[in-house]
Amino acid sequence: MGSDMDIQYLPGVGPKRSELLRKELGAETVGELLRVYPFRYIDKSGYVRIADARPDMAYIQIRARVLRVELYGSSPAETAPKFNTIKRMSVWIGDGTGEMETVFFKGIKWMNERLKPGSEWIFFGKPQVFNSRINMVHPEVDPVTADNADKAQGGTMTGVYPSTEKLKNAGVTGKVMSRIMEAAVEKGLSSERETLPEYLMKERGIVPLQYALRNIHFPTDALALEKSRYRLKFEELFFLQLSLLKQKYVRSRDVNGIHMPRVGDAFNSCYESLPFPLTGAQKRVITEIRNDMKSGQQMNRLLQGDVGSGKTMVAVLTALIAIGNGYQACIMAPTEVLAQQHFKNIQKFLAPTGVRSALLTGSSKTAERREVHAGLEDGSIGIIVGTHALLEDVVVFRNLGLAIIDEQHRFGVEQRSKLWRKSSCGAPPHVLVMTATPIPRTLAMTLYGDLDVSVIDELPPGRKPVQTIHATEGKRPQLYNFMRQEIAKGRQVFIVYPLINETEKLDYQSLEAGAEEIMNKFPFPEYKTAVVHGKQLNDVKKFNMDAFAAGRADILVATSVIEVGVDVPNASVMVIESAERFGLSQLHQLRGRVGRGSEKSYCVLMTGHKLSKESKHRIELMCATENGFELAEEDMKMRGPGDLEGTQQSGLPITLNIASLAKDGLILNAARECAEAVLREDPTLSLLKNQLLRNELIKDKYQIKDYSKIS
Ligand code: ADP
Ligand code: MG
Repeated sequence: MGSDMDIQYLPGVGPKRSELLRKELGAETVGELLRVYPFRYIDKSGYVRIADARPDMAYIQIRARVLRVELYGSSPAETAPKFNTIKRMSVWIGDGTGEMETVFFKGIKWMNERLKPGSEWIFFGKPQVFNSRINMVHPEVDPVTADNADKAQGGTMTGVYPSTEKLKNAGVTGKVMSRIMEAAVEKGLSSERETLPEYLMKERGIVPLQYALRNIHFPTDALALEKSRYRLKFEELFFLQLSLLKQKYVRSRDVNGIHMPRVGDAFNSCYESLPFPLTGAQKRVITEIRNDMKSGQQMNRLLQGDVGSGKTMVAVLTALIAIGNGYQACIMAPTEVLAQQHFKNIQKFLAPTGVRSALLTGSSKTAERREVHAGLEDGSIGIIVGTHALLEDVVVFRNLGLAIIDEQHRFGVEQRSKLWRKSSCGAPPHVLVMTATPIPRTLAMTLYGDLDVSVIDELPPGRKPVQTIHATEGKRPQLYNFMRQEIAKGRQVFIVYPLINETEKLDYQSLEAGAEEIMNKFPFPEYKTAVVHGKQLNDVKKFNMDAFAAGRADILVATSVIEVGVDVPNASVMVIESAERFGLSQLHQLRGRVGRGSEKSYCVLMTGHKLSKESKHRIELMCATENGFELAEEDMKMRGPGDLEGTQQSGLPITLNIASLAKDGLILNAARECAEAVLREDPTLSLLKNQLLRNELIKDKYQIKDYSKIS
């Protein structure tokens, strides 16, 4: 009995089906089955008037009388229809507000005997437009009974469960699933223990767990369903926040950080010879970082700043603080190209300091590599810039005090924890994660565990806005003319193609076709075109990239590998091919590649003619604003799970069952705020009224292995 019971003992399940349910839906116990929620509901709770029926409505229910019946067949009309030759039956129905055609292709004889003109029925189906009128094909037909005659109050909303081919083949249809769920509710619900304390539920207007579980499966009405969904989502997000914040509390109590009290000479001599004044935002962020590093606790900070906001500068100054206190620093980039670029960029800032730096990537030569390894081990190299190559076991630091991770969403959780273990100072290195993907604050704090968040919300002076234009294939000749004009002025052009795992082969084909066309329309030697993509050897990639960066090529045709870095101030045009296939944040990142110089810049979004509603919205937003945070908030509201999935999986300590970080932003904020309030009052959750919370956090799923040591 109870929610721990194996589902095979539920009526209608048995050993075979239980095995299938376990495999297909991951439910082994009644309690787990109760947490397989419907993903949508069919509303049979009221009748829709025919005059109100719209094609965009989901399933609807109409109570109407049969007006007339028309039979269509391949044989000429006879007095007694031969039902084996009748192909289609039209039943015209009316409810006083209008008329509607319902159409049947099967079971015609049976229907014809019952749906007599003048009789009244309940028709349940999906309205659609046919010949510019609304009809329903194969609606369910039920008689009007005393029970359902006045359905408007208290009918049923039926849940639709996730299903698979295998489940369907084994006879587990929607109806069967509903019946199994009914049994699960009956057997298991009463033993489901509340997880939220009474006082919180009261304060926040949250319904009890048992109520929520019952109504998520069998809602009494739309409001009950709404409240139940809210409760279940809130619960998930609340415990996620609570575990993150608790972890943070424990760490600040138990884990010491490296004490870095000084700013140091290296910092000062770099600062004094900067070619420009820092922006207010850069100064503020550096102060925040400095306070962390001298606090005696480990810094775990996320630095967000739009492309071009000057994060590199902040990284350099942060590294120099570590140096000034006698420690080494590393800067990790997700790609070789980026690591090289960082390395090159920081040289000019390091020159006045005399600090030795080095680069280590997958393509470093053996001799070079050995030298770097030695320099890191004896401490003569102060700042090392590199890729994943830094994580190899052979890389040993004398005293790593700071790790700066650029664009960290590309690093897996495990890789980050490796870095942590490289510290031999007895305390973990300070960690600064930099990202150019603007993420709303609460979401950032969730995805990045318990990081503190700093934001550079100001661009260096003198940057010109980028004009964004949407164009379709017909405009290509004009686009090419425009490119010629820009190139004639000495500017350079990016052309970017999407590259997505699932369609990789096709994507490479379109990139290659596109590159060929460009070289045709922009022939050598008048024009020079470089091509860069992930399949090239590193040397080839570097050669082509360098050619563009140094201005030896006018056009760079590339996959989105250029997304995350590459500073070419002379490039003034960014053409994004198949722009509808990119997410908003990616489009924004790509656009950030231009507008870095003093010239007016352009971003051209090329798309097909037909766009989905979402793609259209994305393109319109891109044309309307350049503000990364605005775009991120919008993205939060509209993007499906796809875009966020990678981040969600690599970043999140627990899996979310019903809540979505992308779509439930408001509930996420409420949950965060609630968790903060609870812990402010009772950081160890030892008050009696918080006992339920303490018990819940002990559960396995919240035992975030090593999580505190990762970010
Ligand atoms: P991000 O890494 O945030 O995309 P970068 O650090 O690459 O941005 O900076 C973009 C450009 O702006 C670089 O050429 C950099 O030298 C310049 N820059 C950075 N900070 C300032 C500043 N305070 N004033 C003027 N230019 C700046
Ligand atoms: Mg950068």
